[in-house]
Amino acid sequence: MSGKLFIRNEWVDAVSGRTIPCINPADETEFERVPAAGPEDVGRAVNAARAAFDGGWKRSSPELRGKLLRELARNIRAARERLGQLETRDNGKPLPEALFDVDTAAQIFEMYAELAEQFDGWHGTNLTLPVDYLQTTVKYQPLGVVALITPWNFPIEQFTWKVAAAIAAGCTCVVKPSEITSLTALALAELAQKSGFPPGILNVITGYGSEAGEALVNHPGVDKISFTGSTATGRRIMSLAAPTLKRVSLELGGKSPVIVFDDVKIDRAVEWVMFGAFVNQGQVCTSTSRLLLHETIAPAFLEKLKKGARSIVVGDGRTPGVQMGPLVGAEHYRKVTDYVAAGVREGAELLTGGGMPSGLNRGYFLEPTIFTNVEPHMSVWRDEIFGPVLSVKTFRTEEEAIALANDTDYGLAATVLSEDTDRAERVIDQIDAGITWQNCNQMVVMQAPWGGMKKSGFGRELGRWGMEAFLEIKQRTRWLPDAGLGWYQQPVP
Ligand code: NAP
Repeated sequence: MSGKLFIRNEWVDAVSGRTIPCINPADETEFERVPAAGPEDVGRAVNAARAAFDGGWKRSSPELRGKLLRELARNIRAARERLGQLETRDNGKPLPEALFDVDTAAQIFEMYAELAEQFDGWHGTNLTLPVDYLQTTVKYQPLGVVALITPWNFPIEQFTWKVAAAIAAGCTCVVKPSEITSLTALALAELAQKSGFPPGILNVITGYGSEAGEALVNHPGVDKISFTGSTATGRRIMSLAAPTLKRVSLELGGKSPVIVFDDVKIDRAVEWVMFGAFVNQGQVCTSTSRLLLHETIAPAFLEKLKKGARSIVVGDGRTPGVQMGPLVGAEHYRKVTDYVAAGVREGAELLTGGGMPSGLNRGYFLEPTIFTNVEPHMSVWRDEIFGPVLSVKTFRTEEEAIALANDTDYGLAATVLSEDTDRAERVIDQIDAGITWQNCNQMVVMQAPWGGMKKSGFGRELGRWGMEAFLEIKQRTRWLPDAGLGWYQQPVP
C-alpha cells in the first residue's frame, strides 16, 4: 500500500504526519507521497522486528523460510507489470530494464529459498582436529534484527538482495529505502504480507536518510546495518555504529575502469563499453566510467563509440523504444551536470553529449557523454559521477593500463576486454577490485559474491556470502574422553 509505513504487518502513517513527495523524473511531476518517518516510527519498527525475532522467528525452520520466500517470488511474478511500471515512474529507468529487475528479484528470492533449505551451517560442520580428545562443530545462527538501508538506483533489486538474504538467514528486518524511490519497497512489503510473512519479520520505514536513516543506525535494538550507498554516507554510518558496536556491511561507490586492448573485436568491445557506461543512465555502482584504450586502436574505436553513444534513444522510460531514461532527480541532475561543466573547465575535451537531448524540454535528461584528453588529476577521472559520463585515456603498455586502473580510491569493479585470455587473466589478477569481468561487462551473477575493496566498502552480498552476512558463527567444542582433564592432579614436588 503506497503512502504508509509498514510496521508489524500494519500500514500506518508517520507519527508526525509529515510526508515526502514522489517525483516522476521524466516529467518532474509529483504523483504520490510517502511518510517521513522519525525516531518514534523507527523505534516502533525496530521493536516490532525485535519482538518477532525473540518471539520465535529466530528458531523458525529453514523450510518455512524457504516456503515464504518462494511464495513471495511467485507473487512478484504475478505483479510483474505493475511493479515494473511503478519502478519506471519512480526511478525513471526504461520499462524493459525495470521488468528485468522484477524478474531478477523473483529469481533471487527463489535462490535464497534454496540456500536457506540447503545450508549445512544450521546443523554444523565437524572440523578435522589433530587431537582425538576433542570434537569441534561449527554452527551458524541468525544475527538478529537487521537494518537494511538501500539507494535509489536499483530500488527493487537492492531491497531484494538484502531482504531475501536476511530472511533466509532467520533475521528480522527494518528496511529504509531511499527517500527518492520508496514506492517499490512498499509494494514488495505488500506482496510479502500477501505471501504470509508473519508480523514483524519485515518492516519498511520511508523517510529521510538524515532522520529515519540515522535513527535506525543509532537504535540500540539493531544488531547489524547492511548499507548500500555512497562512500560519504558509509563513512558516517560506520562512525555512528561504533558506540553500540553494531556489525556493519558497506557496499559503496566506485570509479571502475574498462581496459580495452588492441586485439579486441572492435564492434563488440564498443557495445560492452557503451553498456558499462550508459546502462541505467550510468547510475550503477559498478558503472565502467573510466575507459582505458590501447592507443593504436583509439581513433577508430572512439569514432564508433561516439556514433554508438549518439544512437542511444533517450526519453521517458515508459515510451516503447527508449533505451535511456532521465537521471533520478533534480539534485542528482545538478550534481552530474556540474561534473560535466567541471570536466570542460579542467580542460577535458567533450567528444559527444553534455547537454539535454534535443526534443526534450522537461525531465532530468542528459545525453550520453564522453570526455577525451582526460588527465588523472581531473575530477571526471577521479570522482564517482554516477551518471552517463565516460572519461577516456589511452595507454601503451599492459603495466601502464594496470597502474592507471588501480590509481583510484575505489575498488569495486573492473573490466578487461582482450582476445588474449592469458593477458586478460593476468591483468585481472593485478587489479584491486571485488568484481571483475573478462570480455563482458556488468553481468550480475547472483550466485557469486558482490562487493568492493578499498573505499568501495567491505562485506559481500549475493550467493551464500550474502546470507552468511546475516549470520553469527559459533563453535561448540566437546570433550570426548571418559576421564577428566587432570590438570591439578600433577604430583606435588
Ligand atoms: P546515499 O545518499 O549514500 O544514500 C543511500 C541510502 O542511505 C539512502 O536510503 C539514504 O536515504 C540513506 N542515508 C543517507 N544519509 C544517511 C545517514 N546519515 N544515515 C543513515 N542512512 C542515510 O546514496 P545514494 O545517492 O542513494 O546512492 C548512490 C550511491 O550508492 C553511489 O555512490 C553508488 O555507487 C552506491 N551504490 C553502491 C552499490 C554497491 O553494490 N556497491 C550498489 C548501488 C549503489 P535518503 O536517500 O533518504 O537520503
